[in-house]
Order: sequence, then structure tokens, then C-alpha cells
Amino acid sequence: MKRYQICCIGAGYVGGPTMSMIAYQCPHIDVTVVDISQARIDSWNSPSGDLPIYEPGLRELVLSVRDRNLFFSMELDEAIENADMIFVAVNTPTKMSGLGAGRAADLTRWELSARRIAAVATTPKIVVEKSTVPIRTAEAIASVLTASGRTHFSILSNPEFLAEGTAIQDLQNPDRVLIGTNTEDPCSVEAMNVLVDIYSHWVPRNRILTTNVWSSELSKLVANSCLAQRVSTINAVSEICEATGADIDEVANAVGLDKRIGVKFLKASIGFGGSCFQKDILSLVYLCESLGLDEVAEYFYWIVKLNDHQKERFVFRIIHGLFNTVTGKRITILGFAFKKDTGDTRESSAIEVCRRLLHENAILSIYDPKVQSSQILSDLGHCTRLDPLELNQHVSIYADPYEACNQSHALVVCTEWDLFKELDFERIYCQMEKPAFAFDGRNILPHERMKSLGFVVYGIGKPLDK
Ligand code: NAD
Repeated sequence: MKRYQICCIGAGYVGGPTMSMIAYQCPHIDVTVVDISQARIDSWNSPSGDLPIYEPGLRELVLSVRDRNLFFSMELDEAIENADMIFVAVNTPTKMSGLGAGRAADLTRWELSARRIAAVATTPKIVVEKSTVPIRTAEAIASVLTASGRTHFSILSNPEFLAEGTAIQDLQNPDRVLIGTNTEDPCSVEAMNVLVDIYSHWVPRNRILTTNVWSSELSKLVANSCLAQRVSTINAVSEICEATGADIDEVANAVGLDKRIGVKFLKASIGFGGSCFQKDILSLVYLCESLGLDEVAEYFYWIVKLNDHQKERFVFRIIHGLFNTVTGKRITILGFAFKKDTGDTRESSAIEVCRRLLHENAILSIYDPKVQSSQILSDLGHCTRLDPLELNQHVSIYADPYEACNQSHALVVCTEWDLFKELDFERIYCQMEKPAFAFDGRNILPHERMKSLGFVVYGIGKPLDK
């Protein structure tokens, strides 16, 4: 009997982990993940398990099912034609030019995928929107798919809510799975039931929500906006704390213990990063502007503005702390990923902090346990437009945190890696120039202990030492 076949277009941070989980939970289904990047596919197939992305638990998961019922391939057409269900998990970044530049989501890759499916498919397919897309994308995709008239397509929206760093945990035990469909079309409802069945292999039925397509598409944008809004709110409060002497951790705890508010996502920091929050808020802003909902657009836009402001004022604090100049001073950047437990640097706050410090002629020593040196240099080359030679004169990347602290004037924590809490600060203090400064952009260092060693410590939203 023919086994059920799933294909996923896009072998990235979403396509790779989500399809690995489906293959693991559903041994009766064959899952093929395809991509246009040969390097990515080669890496997913690497015999040593050297995967293209770092995510706790991912390597073990992939190795347990790869070549059993999980396959990574460059053969897009073959995978599309064989599939009963096609997930599309390609990237949908913010448009960089043209109409809607800096706001709207760039759907070029989505449309290319849909056109490829339409050109290749000869048997009925269920097409699942896995990427985050603006509301009413399914409608546009449907018209591309059905234009060929060769076969029938059912379109479902199934946005992904995993968070990088906890992706496997989130996929294994999701708060909810959301499936949107056109409830007036019996074929779409049938397709929805097939997808519900797949998830039901491991997700309790009461956590699988079904809605109309538009609600599903909009919910993903709103979920990310709400999460980012909490971050911007607590970061705004951190500025009030610094101006008044209140302590942000005490305030967050007191506020979060109210069950209506909750303690999660109330951690002050140098601001959110990652490939999703900003682009999804901007996409929502663009939607509101297109609908003439200017006040709503402005409301959401302020989340992004406050995030930029938080990064900016953190850098000002570093410069002011270092006697108003960082020219020629060595500064150690601890963490370059946008959050802990990932090697992803997309929209990482560290990039903006480094960019501004380089602009002020600082010399940077950078350490991150999971980000490749080539990625750091590429990100910094891109944002500073310095050529590789100039960059090498101003930036050194270390594989050891202690070496990165040698002869440094200041430590700057950009990512909340757990290992930073456990560093030997006595040893680090001895290696550093004096006075030795620490600017903790994540409030994870042992501030009191460090102060007793002689460090001058700055925490986000923390009372300033007189
Ligand atoms: P990604 O950049 O890591 O992966 C996308 C992959 O798609 C890339 O490998 C790219 O080569 C491939 N691709 C692009 N065009 C293609 C085409 N025409 N044919 C075949 N492959 C193609 O992106 P991601 O982080 O996995 O995000 C994918 C989508 O999921 C985005 O819409 C994003 O907003 C959403 N999302 C991401 C996360 C996250 O944490 N990263 C979480 C939830 C939702």
C-alpha cells in the first residue's frame, strides 16, 4: 500500500525541526524536506550530524529518523509530485525595496513555491501555509495554484509557534496547534481533518484549534506582536527604573505575580531580536495602514520604536560609562546570537550594539559558544560596510571567553547564555584594564559579587551606583 507522503519546501529553522517531529511521531508517513540551497541540504544529510542549525535536542531527533522516513533532498519537482500534502516553510522577510519597503512581508519565495507546485502537480494536493504570511495570503496562493486547472488543491493555514532555543520542546508539547481552513468548502474541511489526524498522533485533541483561514493567519502576527509588546513594555519600565532608583527585577516580579499578567516574558534586556518579531509587527503595521487603521498601525509600530530605543540607550550607557569615548578601547562582547540556545543571529541586538561601538572606533573581542566566526564577520561586514581587512583590524573572535576578556576595558553581555553566569570573574577582573566595567544587557551576571571584586556594573533597569 502506498504510504502517505509529505513534502516540505524550505529546510530552515521551521521546516527542518517541524518535519523531523512529524517523521518521528508518525512512522507510517514519509517526509521529504526540499530546499534550493545545496549547502543546507548537504548539511541536513551530513553523516556526522553537523546540521545547518543548532537547536537543543534536534540532532538526536534528526538522527533517529533520517533515512527511515525523513529525507532531505534538492529534488523539488519529484517531492512535489509524490506528495499528498505539501508544507511551505520558506522565509518571508520584510521587503527591502519597492511598494511597502521596510514594512510589508516579501512573499516572492512563497509565490515561486506556489508556481512550482502548480507547474508540477498532476494529482490533488493539500497545500499548508507554514510560513508566517500576511492575512489573505491563502487567497492569493489559491489563485496561483488553481490557475493551471490541472488538479485540485486544498489550502490550509498552519502557522508555527515554536521559539528558537526551545523548538523541540515546543513541537513535542505545543500550547496549541492552529489550523485555518475555508470552512464552507467540504474539500478544505476534509483536508483539515487529515492534518488534525496527523497532529493527533502526539498533540491532545483539545490543543488543536481549527478556525477560518483569516483568523489563523492573523493570529500568528498578533501572537508575535503581543510577545514583543511585553518585551517593549518592560524595557520601557526599565528606563523609568534607571531614572528613579526602582529595580526592574523587583518590579517585574511584583507585577507578574498578578495571575492576569503572569511572570513570563517580563525580563528586561537590550531588546528583542530574531527573524520574526520585528518583521511580523511591521507586517501587521502595513496591514493596518493599508486598511486605513492609522492609530492601530501607530500603536503596533511603537513596539518596534521602543525596541530600537532600548538598544540605542544601552550603547549610550556604555559610551558614557567609559568616560564618553571608546576610541581604541577593547570591549568584550559576550554573546552574539539573538537569544541563548541558538546559533541564529538574524536581527540580533548584538549586531546593532557592535555596529555602533565600531562606529565609535572601539576594538571588539567577541565570544559566542554557538555562532560561527564567519557568520559574525559577515553580519558585521554587512552592517558596517567595512571591508574584511578593516574589520579584522577592529574585531577579533575568540573560542574561549577568558581569552576574549584579555586587556578589555568592559564586558558587554548581549546574549543570556547560561555559561556566562558561571564564569570565573575574579580571573577575568585580573585580566582586564582598570577600572573594569561590566554592562549586562540581560541582567544575568552576579552583580553584587562582581562589584565586591571591583567591577563597575551596569544592569538594565538597575539602580545606578553613585
Ligand atoms: P529560514 O530562512 O531558516 O528557512 C527558509 C528556507 O527556505 C531556506 O533554507 C531557503 O533556502 C528556503 N527557500 C527559499 N525559497 C525557496 C524556494 N523557492 N524553494 C525551496 N526552498 C526555498 O526561515 P525560517 O526561520 O525557517 O522561517 C520560515 C518561515 O517560518 C518564515 O515565514 C518565518 O516567519 C516563520 N517562522 C519562523 C520561526 C522561527 O523561529 N525561525 C518561528 C515561527 C514561524
